[in-house]
Amino acid sequence: MTRETSVSAAAKPDDDEYLLLRGGRLFDGTGDDLVTDGAVLVEGQRIAAAGPEGDLDVPDDATVVDVGDRTLMPGIVDAHTHLTIFNSRVRGRFRLSDPKNSLPYNTIRAMESVASYIDKGVTTQREVGGRDFISASVRDAIEEGRIPGPRLLPSGPILTPTAGLDDKRPYFVEGNLANGWEVNGRQEVVKAVREQKKAGVSTIKVDASGAWTAFSDSKTPTMSEEEMAAAVEEAHKFGLRVAAHAQATEGIKNAARAGVDTIEHATYLDEEGLELILDNDIIVVPTLIPFEEFLDAGEGVEMNESQRQALKDDRAAQRESFVMAHENGVQLAVGSDAIPPMVPHGDTHREIRHFHRLGFSKSDALVAATKSSAEAVGLGDEIGTLEPDKSADIIAVEGNPLDDLDVLADSSNPTVVVKEGAVVKDERPA
Ligand SMILES: [Zn+2]
Repeated sequence: MTRETSVSAAAKPDDDEYLLLRGGRLFDGTGDDLVTDGAVLVEGQRIAAAGPEGDLDVPDDATVVDVGDRTLMPGIVDAHTHLTIFNSRVRGRFRLSDPKNSLPYNTIRAMESVASYIDKGVTTQREVGGRDFISASVRDAIEEGRIPGPRLLPSGPILTPTAGLDDKRPYFVEGNLANGWEVNGRQEVVKAVREQKKAGVSTIKVDASGAWTAFSDSKTPTMSEEEMAAAVEEAHKFGLRVAAHAQATEGIKNAARAGVDTIEHATYLDEEGLELILDNDIIVVPTLIPFEEFLDAGEGVEMNESQRQALKDDRAAQRESFVMAHENGVQLAVGSDAIPPMVPHGDTHREIRHFHRLGFSKSDALVAATKSSAEAVGLGDEIGTLEPDKSADIIAVEGNPLDDLDVLADSSNPTVVVKEGAVVKDERPA
């Protein structure tokens, strides 16, 4: 699961430091074609210019990183991750007796997770549900330069109604378990959002429907429109964004009417739901990986026959809804929903390939994983493309992903990772 890596927690560069990344090809993420002899000039933490090297005005004292015959592209943005959900959470129910449910163990796993993301070229990740407020602390440690990791947008436990997806609590037990935070009614929702604000999250996750792992299934709407609207109103007051797990047809509509910022999955989407998503400018993060890969994953997933059938039904519906949303102009963003050991953290390239397999051109799939994902996490002006004044989040990959998306999966890629102007990984051969 882990691999050798040389990724570091490099200090942020000063404003007057220049860095020139000189490459064979440049894909700036705006959807345009490749630039040959491309380069990116970085001033401090920001992009000063990107384009053919001959067009750039490079100061004499710039540090030059020649990436040779590689492709420069924006860092990948993963809009749907969980730092502290791994195998034991995916088995039908949370196991009270498992000592690995401890917060210290989960914290160590979360630190390992963020290192995997940045190592594999994900320079920004949004968390949409985890244990306690581990990810907020991990974010702080990354920002202080103590540990390597991407720009992290943390969440807390997922707001779930009783018997909702992230309620893992048997009725005879009290308190919240795993990554859920039980709320019922407007008042409890508002209080939970305020508590999570205090703890330093940037995203509120709500359960608009169940799933095959839960007390309520993927066709059952759970949190009401009124409850989600309360979450949105309170979260937006604080500048937080709201993501809704919505698989059920009515759950999707409830979430869209409530005005959430992103809908995760949108599995059983119908015409009315589609219209509501378009009318409310909601970005959908489908997360194809769990649907496409968990059925055959073996280790880590325990499911009985009826759960297996439910997941097969979900997979068929997810594919249809994805195509329907894409063909009708819904903005789709890449989120991996990676849960080890089935899918290792940072393997966001697998989601990019699923987008392509279900109808996205290669360049559109890359744009979905950079520009669209940046917009999904609310940072469209800051990251996602290689344009002047944006944060210098850049990766260099061996080969040309516009020819062959599989190069992103090579263990040697990306060779170079730059985050906020700092070279945090450089594995060019000496
Ligand atoms: Zn998820």
